[in-house]
Amino acid sequence: MTHKELLLSVCDSEDFYEFTKAPFKAGSRNVATDRKIIISVPAYDDSLPDFSERIKMFYPFERNCNIIYSVAEIKKSLAEIPQVEAMEKKITECDACSGTGRVTYEFEHGRNTYDLESDCPVCEGEGEIETEVPFPGKTMPDPEYYVKINKHKFAQFYVQKLVEIAENEGTENINLVFAPLRQHGHGFIIGSVEVLLMPVNSAEKFITLTPKA
Ligand SMILES: [Zn+2]
Repeated sequence: MTHKELLLSVCDSEDFYEFTKAPFKAGSRNVATDRKIIISVPAYDDSLPDFSERIKMFYPFERNCNIIYSVAEIKKSLAEIPQVEAMEKKITECDACSGTGRVTYEFEHGRNTYDLESDCPVCEGEGEIETEVPFPGKTMPDPEYYVKINKHKFAQFYVQKLVEIAENEGTENINLVFAPLRQHGHGFIIGSVEVLLMPVNSAEKFITLTPKA
């Protein structure tokens, strides 16, 4: 994966804000964010628009520690998250409108009945709905689990992302270099990549990462 592909992996071209739609420039680096994670790499394209003002509250981050986590240990910890049955998305016919996408409302006033045809409110006129059903024989890590790093908890998805970045950078270490006491973004250095990651508010179920001694 190139650094450009890495940045694009957190962008959402459909998003509302310009600075979350595509990678941009911040100082001598190229950056992308989905507002939960900020990923910064050495600039590969100097012509990108500069949105450093939009993220200056968070990035660049200061440094107040250097706690080192081993990628192998993180992967071992992630593997300890209990497995639950995997779910898959399934499209079924909407039973409110029998798949027609249209419904009729009736309104009575005196002796008169008024009919009004409209889009089905259950499927929003689509005629079908998407539901989650168990995927037989397939398991996944329990999505209710979070990952505690230092004093705060982070979403599994983003910790996986840190591992992915480390493997891509060819480094065995993930360095936590900015750990605020309050629940603000935490700064990580992974090879030539800098990451600011937001912790979650609260998490009942979690595993804890142990730093290198
Ligand atoms: Zn419907």
